[in-house]
Amino acid sequence: MCHALQQDPRFYLLLLRIDDELSSEVRLRGCACGGVLHRANYPRKPRACLSEVRADFESRFSFCCNRCRRRTTSMSVRFLGRRVYLSLAVVLASARHAGQRPAAARLSTELNIPVRTLQRWRQWWGEQFPLTPLWQAACARFMPPVDTETFPASLLERFAGDAAEALLRLLVFLSPLTVRPVTLNEGR
Ligand SMILES: [Zn+2]
Repeated sequence: MCHALQQDPRFYLLLLRIDDELSSEVRLRGCACGGVLHRANYPRKPRACLSEVRADFESRFSFCCNRCRRRTTSMSVRFLGRRVYLSLAVVLASARHAGQRPAAARLSTELNIPVRTLQRWRQWWGEQFPLTPLWQAACARFMPPVDTETFPASLLERFAGDAAEALLRLLVFLSPLTVRPVTLNEGR
């Protein structure tokens, strides 16, 4: 069975609302050149998305400047970089998959996510995430230090509240990563 939150349309709509707010802030700020930002969303074919809310998850909010044509993509709690799986799936599946092969195979069948993809996510959490500017800047704020070997489960534990609040806080914490595609091409 999936995590209960992955089956709860209200949780998805909450994520959508946060992404809406994040994109409004970006649009209001405008482009660095002084130009006006026009909506130019990226189409997405989201995986591990609840069917009831799928239509709301088929675009990643992005803008194009009317003067210099440069793109500005807002931070997101729905999408982790360019991955086709939603960030809540990346976080929850990675938190449950401790790396052992039989467990990974079971989880893969249960969640309908290829083992290869699960392994790539684990590798990203273990090797690349700790090196990101986001984690480098934030890690000292966590006392005692977070066990990087068991990311993201160890990180999720540090966020306060019930399961929904903790996951939401973690997704907000991770959202700056979603506008750094360079570190996120891995593990689609
Ligand atoms: Zn511009």
